[in-house]
Amino acid sequence: HSNHSEKEHRARASGASNDTNEKLMAVNMVERSFPVGGSTLHVLKGIQMDIKPRQLVMLKGRSGSGKTTLLNCLGGLDTPSKGEIWFNGLPFSKMSDDERTLVRRREMGFIFQAFALMPLLSAYENVELSLRMAGKPRSEWKKRVEECLELVGLAKRMHHRPFELSGGEQQRVAIAKSIAHRPILLLADEPTAELDTAMSAQIMSVFQNIIETENVSICMTTHDPTIMEVADHVYEMVDGKFI
Ligand code: ADP
Repeated sequence: HSNHSEKEHRARASGASNDTNEKLMAVNMVERSFPVGGSTLHVLKGIQMDIKPRQLVMLKGRSGSGKTTLLNCLGGLDTPSKGEIWFNGLPFSKMSDDERTLVRRREMGFIFQAFALMPLLSAYENVELSLRMAGKPRSEWKKRVEECLELVGLAKRMHHRPFELSGGEQQRVAIAKSIAHRPILLLADEPTAELDTAMSAQIMSVFQNIIETENVSICMTTHDPTIMEVADHVYEMVDGKFI
């Protein structure tokens, strides 16, 4: 109950409406093809999807179906050959590379399969690094780093380095790192692929927690059917299309 009213309070404070049709990201007839040896490989064939504020959206599909290519387009690491992607009211896929990079760095966070932490830095220093990179004022670092590590349940492991942490804990540091600069969308490619069932469940509850407290949406790929149960929406990709 208190979570609910807290969420409403934040929605009002940020000027967001309660309209469930409000979209954070809209993907409109997106195609992506690559030239391969004199012919054209059509990888995405008319993708239509949207991500609403505070939604947990999952992409499933066999290896090679096009999930990573789509995630790269959503994250602005790649651009569609046709169609368009709107993000936070902006024509994301039509922007210049520089503009898109700026939007991506400010408003998005990325989480990978293999944790992607700096091995010689502590959990604290890893999260701090992302605030430094985002150009956040130094005076804000300590409070925000501690807040993020608290959010992922690692306040007591703050000064451990990656090799002193379990796989699940390392991934939680990576999540803390991805949200530190206050993005509004997190994109995660198979974030639980290297984790056992218990650790995967923990990651999902961390995701649910940060959707509530940080006001983000999350779009992730997964193969794990038990994880899909907590999604607001699951899109299944077959051969470059959703079924
Ligand atoms: P998934 O993530 O579902 O496994 P991918 O998006 O990685 O699928 O790949 C889908 C298909 O697109 C594969 O056949 C892959 O070889 C091809 N592909 C992806 N990126 C490129 C590229 N840059 N050039 C050529 N082919 C690509």
